[in-house]
Amino acid sequence: MPQAHRTPVLIIGAGPAGYTAAIYAARAGLQPILVAGLQPGGQLTITTDVENYPGFAEVIQGPWLMEQMAAQAEAMGTRAIHDIITEIDLSRRPFVAISDSAERFEADTIVIATGASARWLEIPSERVLRGAGVSACATCDGFFYRGKAVAVIGGGNTAVEEAIYLTRHASHVTLVHRRDSLRAERVMRERLFANPKISVIWDHEVDEILGGGTPAVVDGLRLQHVRTGEKRTLALDGVFVAIGHTPNTMIFEGQVEMDRDGYILTSGGNTATSVPGVFAAGDVQDRIYRQAVTAAASGCMAALDAEKFLSHAAREVAVAAY
Ligand code: NDP
Repeated sequence: MPQAHRTPVLIIGAGPAGYTAAIYAARAGLQPILVAGLQPGGQLTITTDVENYPGFAEVIQGPWLMEQMAAQAEAMGTRAIHDIITEIDLSRRPFVAISDSAERFEADTIVIATGASARWLEIPSERVLRGAGVSACATCDGFFYRGKAVAVIGGGNTAVEEAIYLTRHASHVTLVHRRDSLRAERVMRERLFANPKISVIWDHEVDEILGGGTPAVVDGLRLQHVRTGEKRTLALDGVFVAIGHTPNTMIFEGQVEMDRDGYILTSGGNTATSVPGVFAAGDVQDRIYRQAVTAAASGCMAALDAEKFLSHAAREVAVAAY
């Protein structure tokens, strides 16, 4: 039987932003409910080594870091619910959110921390072969390519990190980038260029992922030069797409102001959105920094902003009653 819940602070999303908001809101005695989705932990659960999260001199693992954040949030008094919010009404307070399993949440404030998801090339062959040789997660699927040749598409930190990770399993990794320089940080670029198992193809886009059969497999990649249009084919067994992310904001469309790519707009100095009482933290509102530590920091800000909002609202109610 679906239940109804009431909370001063409903946090939607279980990455660094959501968990940090939960830790701060719980410590402030706001009894937050965190709706964690079905695979809590966000993007750090599909990464491996984390060496830039402050406080850890040794390399730590992304999934471990997220387990620690979840445990800390719960230890502070957060109620974590493993469900997905599918409907939301931000037009009046208390705000109402309905989950996939028909649970109803009423909240005085909401922290949106739904993060961002991997983008795809959106070509027909990719759709057909996704999960059958085409992946967006090297740490999830790299193991299947032991001794095989693979390609990574993209030129950012994710693409470079995935290419380096894949050399643990694959016989050779080809990084395919649409320009002649990488967006990835210098330290990552240096590691990539120093790795003898990686080669880079510059100035090419994916024309088609080749493969098929039953069960379907990938057996190659047809690339096209961005200026000459010339095509070339590579024989390989797996393709990892690492071309950035899209914010997970579909359910908030039309209810809270967003930019043209769907990132939630916050007021600049704090995490307030266009709806009073609704705050946004982490990658869902950040197209620039997108780091675990910046997401965590904005989660902290959102909880403090929600706390301030609630104390103002309580004062207004008290004044009105007087
Ligand atoms: P980015 O947006 O940084 O990079 C996306 C890459 O994909 C770019 O090189 C872009 O090309 C390319 N691309 C985009 N669309 C297409 C397309 N349709 N076809 C071909 N190529 C395409 O995303 P990332 O996921 O790499 O990184 C996101 C953020 O996370 C960044 O801020 C990054 O620094 C951070 N990050 C940090 C890590 C760390 O510190 N350990 C690890 C991973 C990510 P172009 O360059 O031409 O635009």
